[in-house]
Parts: sequence; C-alpha cells; structure tokens
Amino acid sequence: MAGSMKALRYHGQKDLRVDSVPIPELQSGQVKVKPEWCGICGTDLHEYIAGPILIPTAEKPHRLTGCSLPLIIGHEFAGEIVELGPGVEPRRLKVGMKVCIEPTLFDDNCPPCLDRRRNCCDKGGFFGLSGWGGGFSEYACLKEKVVHPLPDNVPTHIGALVEPLSVGWHALKASDHSPEQSALIVGAGPIGLAVLLCLIARGCRQILISEVSPQRIKHALDIAAACPEVEVIVLDPSKSDVVAKSKQLCSEGNQGPNVVYDCAGVQQSIETAIGAVRKGGTG
Ligand SMILES: [Zn+2]
Repeated sequence: MAGSMKALRYHGQKDLRVDSVPIPELQSGQVKVKPEWCGICGTDLHEYIAGPILIPTAEKPHRLTGCSLPLIIGHEFAGEIVELGPGVEPRRLKVGMKVCIEPTLFDDNCPPCLDRRRNCCDKGGFFGLSGWGGGFSEYACLKEKVVHPLPDNVPTHIGALVEPLSVGWHALKASDHSPEQSALIVGAGPIGLAVLLCLIARGCRQILISEVSPQRIKHALDIAAACPEVEVIVLDPSKSDVVAKSKQLCSEGNQGPNVVYDCAGVQQSIETAIGAVRKGGTG
C-alpha cells in the first residue's frame, strides 16, 4: 500500500482543508517530487474568494483529468526528486535533485501538442487546479518532461518563482520586444515585476511602470536600484496622467512606449495600455 499524506485541498469557495489523501502512485514516465516551497497565485486567490472558476466541479469534470473538486491546489512550486518511475533513466533527472515544476497538463496527442505547443493543448489544464495533484502536498507525481532541474545556486524558495517568472518571459517573447525599444508595464504585482526582471535581463534601457500601491512601488524601485544602468521610472496613476507622461518620457516626438504590458487586467489598465502605446507598437 502506498500510504497516506497530507495535502491542501480546495472543496469550494472559502473552503480549503488539510486532508489526508493517498500518496500518488508513480506511473510510467513520471517522477515523484517532494514539494518544499509553493507560491500562492492570483488564480488561487480568485478560486478561494469567488470560485470555483477554473477548478472543475462534479457537474463538469475536467476534460483531460476527469477530476473535480475537492482537489489539491498549488502550481508554483519547487522541491526535491524522491523517486523515478518506470522508464525514467537517471540521466537528466536524478533522485535528490532540486527541481522546479512546469504545471502544464496536456494530452501529448492533439494538434497543438504535436506542434510542440503543449501549453495550448486542446484538453489542457494545470497541475494544482485541474486534478492529478498539486504543490500543497507532501508528494506529487509528474511527467518527466515538466520537471526541470534547478542550478545548484538556486534554492527551492527561489525555484518556486520560476513559474511566474516564465509568464513574464513568455510575454516578452510574444511581444517580440527588442532591447532598444522602450516599454511600459501597467501594474507592478508579481507578474509585472517578473516582466520588469525579464526586460532588464534582455537589456532594455528604458522601462516605465504604472502602479498605485506603495508596497508594489517599493518592490519596483528596489529592483531598479540594483540595476542603475537601466532607466526605470515609476508613475503613480493616482498622482499623474500615465498616458500623457509616458508619451512625454519616451522621446522621438512624444510617440509613447514601443511595447506595453498589461499586468493588472482591469478596465483602467487596458485603457492606459491602449492610450499609451506608440502607433504600430505592440502589447
Ligand atoms: Zn494536447
């Protein structure tokens, strides 16, 4: 018998419980990970406060996993490999290795999956939202290809941030941003800060940020202070006109930033993004 473990399960709106559940059994091609750190995503908060939204219910089980609530949550996590399943050779992954998780669930069989776009799987879901397990548990079994080794100098509490950081990196790739172009980030929450870090890493020299929360402004300024070679300007929309100001700051005839990233997802941020972006710019 596999035994039992503790896991944080979502039973419904404002109903999270630490339950005793069976330890998942390793399937062929899977790796068993002991999660050490797991982030709480904005999506988790939405599910808690106003859900179920993405989390499948008994009336509509998930199209890939067939699961419905209660289910284990947590999809931003990192931990240690404790066992390799049948068919997994100890080459890229080994027992004892620290790893981060790509929480995508996919069928490996539909046109997007066969086109190497498993994040767009026709039946896609999320580990920690759609069933088959989650990061807020003692053990998690995942396909070998979604388990990624962490470098020795990256501890697992940082490794748990790789997933939100990858969201920022994907946004840069999708916007086709090039280093000489200016950028405006609307919202400096975790994803906005991830975009900021990725822009800096890509060599962007002029970055504007629109944010109203003093705590978030402080985080953005702390990152900026560590990178004096980059011009980072934080604008507070409660104190200044972000659209007018960003046109003025991104020179060349007040054209505005080349690329705008909406990292807030509210009506006002979308209007700011569309108002500020340069003609022919992207977002
Ligand atoms: Zn697929």
